[in-house]
Amino acid sequence: MKVLVINCGSSSLKYQVIDSETEKVLAKGLCERIGIDGRLVYQPAGSEKIITESAMPTHKEAVRMVLDALVDKENGVLSSLSEIGAVGHRIVHGGEKFTESALITDEMLRKVEECNELAPLHNPANIIGINACRELMPGVPMVGVFDTAFHQTMPAKAYMYAVPYECYQKYGVRRYGFHGTSHSFVSKRAAEVAGIELTNSKIIVCHLGNGASVSAVLNGKSVDTSMGLSPLEGLVMGTRSGDIDPTAVQYIAKKEGLDFDGVMTLLNKKSGVLGISGVSSDFRDLLAAQDKGDKRAKLAVDMFVYRVAKYIGAYAAAMNGVDLIAFTAGVGENNGFVRQEICRYLGFIGVEIDSKANEVAGEERKISTDNSMVKVYVIPTNEELAIARETVRLATE
Ligand code: ADP
Repeated sequence: MKVLVINCGSSSLKYQVIDSETEKVLAKGLCERIGIDGRLVYQPAGSEKIITESAMPTHKEAVRMVLDALVDKENGVLSSLSEIGAVGHRIVHGGEKFTESALITDEMLRKVEECNELAPLHNPANIIGINACRELMPGVPMVGVFDTAFHQTMPAKAYMYAVPYECYQKYGVRRYGFHGTSHSFVSKRAAEVAGIELTNSKIIVCHLGNGASVSAVLNGKSVDTSMGLSPLEGLVMGTRSGDIDPTAVQYIAKKEGLDFDGVMTLLNKKSGVLGISGVSSDFRDLLAAQDKGDKRAKLAVDMFVYRVAKYIGAYAAAMNGVDLIAFTAGVGENNGFVRQEICRYLGFIGVEIDSKANEVAGEERKISTDNSMVKVYVIPTNEELAIARETVRLATE
């Protein structure tokens, strides 16, 4: 079956077409500047990107342009749209209502809407994308895959905030966790390549991209993760602060004359390694600046590394041990220096890195020595493939 995978934001829409039998990507790309002017990037497998500027007042025009590109006589990868057997949509927040992926129906969408308040920037955009696809592809089964669902197995002691219990009961204030599709995909794959039984394993997944989170996966189930009610909690990220004393938030707001929205923008967009370094949110720029002697860039990298190591230590305690640590996403897959610096803290649990293996970039491989008490792997994540698999599973049930 050919599956269209859609990841829809407020002004952008990323897509891939995946052949579920071969698991190969047939075409991918994105629509940008939806509602502003409009730009379609379309790339058939093995070919150059084709860029078309064209008006996209709404997501519906964006989806239509993607579908047209897919069946285009010259550069299309499908002979007709009827070849698309199902569509998989990434949905950011499923609250407590979705513990796994779900077939999209009117009733299901109503439940997703009930989670909108928890992710006001993301969920409404996801729903707009879903509705545009439903209009243009009536009758094609569609599936929603949630960033939060994998973490719904966390025990209450891990997901509750120690605030009045009514805040949880009345408003659903608790930790949900994100990047669930990636943590699930990577933990399964890591167990597979390492030859350990997923159902009898203690795995820590470090998803280190621009957004970053760590998860503790015990016997295949998430038991803790570093992001919380929103993706702001936890690690130091590209532009997000991660863990912070709320009093600092109040103090900054007062001093800078910011309201809630203003201070949240500061924490989400101007903080993290960007805020500390003043250089960039991109680790390639940070390491280049650090090599030239930039002290704040070095501090940003040190803080990032230290926070990841602390979470790994905490999750080793949470699971009473760890068999395998997996690194994934942009930094985790490609940046040997950052991995090595994180693992320097982990000698106490018997982590020993094979520095030669660690130098290789971007490939699935073991980077620990044979003597290491904990296996350490680089496992490239593939959220689109994970969504496509879920979509086929539910669409053919
Ligand atoms: P997101 O999906 O959250 O936007 P990614 O997973 O793409 O983020 O990760 C982006 C980060 O990955 C950037 O900080 C970037 O520097 C880093 N990255 C990507 N490729 C490389 C590379 N080859 N070497 C070092 N860092 C890299």
